[in-house]
Amino acid sequence: MIQETDAVVIGAGPVGLFQVFQLGLQGLSTHIVDALPYAGGQCVELYGDKPIYDIPGIPVCTGHELAARLTQQIAPFQPQWHLGTQVASIQPQADGRFAVTTSQSAQLIARAVFIAAGVGAFVPRALKVEGIDAFAGTQLFYQHLPPASQLQGQRLVVHGGDDAAVACAIQAATSAEGAAASVALLHRRDVFNAPPDQLAQLQALRDGGRIEAVVGQITGIVREGERLAALQTLTPEGAEQTVPVDVLVVALGVSPRLGPIADWGLAMERKQLVVDTATFSTSVAGIYAVGDIITYPGKRKLILCGFHEATLAAFAAAEALSGKPVVLQYTTSSTHLHQLLGVGAAGIDNG
Ligand code: FAD
Repeated sequence: MIQETDAVVIGAGPVGLFQVFQLGLQGLSTHIVDALPYAGGQCVELYGDKPIYDIPGIPVCTGHELAARLTQQIAPFQPQWHLGTQVASIQPQADGRFAVTTSQSAQLIARAVFIAAGVGAFVPRALKVEGIDAFAGTQLFYQHLPPASQLQGQRLVVHGGDDAAVACAIQAATSAEGAAASVALLHRRDVFNAPPDQLAQLQALRDGGRIEAVVGQITGIVREGERLAALQTLTPEGAEQTVPVDVLVVALGVSPRLGPIADWGLAMERKQLVVDTATFSTSVAGIYAVGDIITYPGKRKLILCGFHEATLAAFAAAEALSGKPVVLQYTTSSTHLHQLLGVGAAGIDNG
């Protein structure tokens, strides 16, 4: 499906989210894309529950809280979200716009593109077992359970030892809707890394026979016709075992991949995009870049610095798109900005 917009923001980390806000203040509509199924980038994926102390005006907040506040702040601008999908390509069009294509085949036609891709797209760590990829989307899923209709009466195996895997197994074992016939949690050792309350619930479900913990490493698969029928595993003692499976959820965590960005024809230095620090334009006019993905003399990989970069990039894009200088207005006092934000004019009106 082709959708037209003023801007596409690639990456819903803190800087991408604030980019949407700054574009909104310039009256520009946005679509925002992230490989993760939720907003927040590194703040949520790498340190969601840890405190951040250097966001101006917020003495302390967690990664999750910062993502939630930024998401709330951009709500008035109603960005179109594309989560759980990766931007695969950016193609300049004859009319000066860009065609941005996602891994789910959405095509966004944008007047400007903002790359806020951080350390790369967070994608699930793949299971490297010969032949397994053929079952992706039918019997093999990453990080999340499939819809209840695909679990009903099935033998589920969740592979992983961290909280995502433990949460999937608990969710499947306690769900009334789409109840699996059996739930196995397969990990290389009988030690799981999850919050204490989750571990206690896991133990209770194991004791009650709702979850079976299987210790071993996956070494191969067993097919029955076109179907994945079982996993071959090796125990720590070196014994081979066969684990029957109808649905396999691999939850081995996510890792960042620079991915296709390197193929977009933009000037790069040591895997980072080179930008002009007055406009945060990349080497291609109309494509801007902000946050951890960029490099320039003095660059610091801090959220605060990304916020500054996003602000200047939005001003530069607004000027380039309108062909005239953009007058600075304050959110405290501009009635125009109040209208865009959908707030009453509480400040002095000199906008
Ligand atoms: P990211 O947060 O990395 O977000 C980029 C997003 O883009 C990701 O969600 C990714 O999935 C997505 N993406 C990338 N490529 C694609 C693609 N092709 N298609 C779709 N999506 C894509 N900074 C501070 O200022 N203060 C701190 O206290 C602080 N503590 C930190 C603690 C830790 C442990 C770490 C690791 C970092 C910390 N940082 C801190 C750094 C801070 O998190 C980063 O500077 C910030 O997250 C950068 O934001 P970003 O939006 O540029 O990138």
